[in-house]
Amino acid sequence: MINSKTRAAWHRKVRELKFIAKGLASTSHPLVAHIIPIRKCNLSCVYCNEYDNYSKPIALDIMKQRIDHLVKLGLSALVFSGGEPLLHPELDELISHASKSGLLVGLITNGYLLVPERIKRLNKAGLDYMQISIDNIQPDEISVKSLKVLDKKLQMLKEHADFAVNINSVIGGGIRNPEDALVIGNRAVELGFSTTVGIIHDGNGQSGKLNDIEQTIFKQLRDLGKTNYARFNRFQDNLAEGKPNDWRCRAGSRYLYICEDGLVHYCSQRRGYPGVSLLSYTTQDIIREFNTKKDCADYCTVACVHKVAVMDNWRFDKQTLPDPENLTLLPGRAIAEELKLIPLNSKSKKLAQKPAVTQEAEQEELVSVS
Ligand code: SF4
Ligand code: SF4
Repeated sequence: MINSKTRAAWHRKVRELKFIAKGLASTSHPLVAHIIPIRKCNLSCVYCNEYDNYSKPIALDIMKQRIDHLVKLGLSALVFSGGEPLLHPELDELISHASKSGLLVGLITNGYLLVPERIKRLNKAGLDYMQISIDNIQPDEISVKSLKVLDKKLQMLKEHADFAVNINSVIGGGIRNPEDALVIGNRAVELGFSTTVGIIHDGNGQSGKLNDIEQTIFKQLRDLGKTNYARFNRFQDNLAEGKPNDWRCRAGSRYLYICEDGLVHYCSQRRGYPGVSLLSYTTQDIIREFNTKKDCADYCTVACVHKVAVMDNWRFDKQTLPDPENLTLLPGRAIAEELKLIPLNSKSKKLAQKPAVTQEAEQEELVSVS
């Protein structure tokens, strides 16, 4: 007798194969979109610039209209992000709407609001993937996304979730105990989840590369999450060594970031470009952005866009249109720092008035097409 978990996994696999086939056959549709149903979060991680503590949820009909337009554009996978998307009172209905429209559906959450009944509701709504980022073992003044707090939530997921779960840990500047990432990764594997690791660069350092201990732990973690890692090792390895990557970013085309105001942006770190209403976004926009060079690509740490770009790497085409911001006057690292792709470390964060970049949004390696 096939249980609901196995059935869901097969169903997911069939749709992932369709995702790949459609993506290889044509470049004029988006593959993955992140959408923000609510900016509010129940936590306040010090490094995060992706949340507030007051925003109202976006109305159901407006969100459905946005999803419908994405479907019309030919989207394959939709990821709900935030803030904390579980704070949206009608999230289940949004997931169900997206799933019934034929999309693969993901959710990025801090996990705090998960209880068995909520997980079962997400199963029923048709959720395909969930990602939880865990920053440390013990809560500290930077982040309370800690294994100590979240382990019981992970056990609930193991018992009740029919969807795939990925646990992301982080390593690099500002993380006090790099060994924590290894404990988190091992725990994820022990519970039968996939695991990924994201690299935080030290914005104050010249090179931004990982130190020796971090490099060792990074390699061990990389081996833990081998299946997920294999296709994207080039990006991660270069970033770990502080080297730029040579790739074609397809943000605004194959990847879309839809903010709570319903505007299309390249990604969470380049909000403002193209910065136009999703409802007026057309296939022509997608084709234009496919061919637009992104000057910030060299040191980009936005893993989900790296991952999406892999689908088109074999095409050997050149991006002939210039970056709308024309950032080429700046050297690669300066662009990355200006755009906060390279976050400030924890010491400088305390000095800074404005919080630096969230890693949660950066490491959204959610839609696995393995
Ligand atoms: S990183 Fe995630 S959990 Fe932390 S404040 Fe930002 S949105 Fe909330
Ligand atoms: S930051 Fe990265 S994902 Fe965003 S537009 Fe630049 S290269 Fe693309």
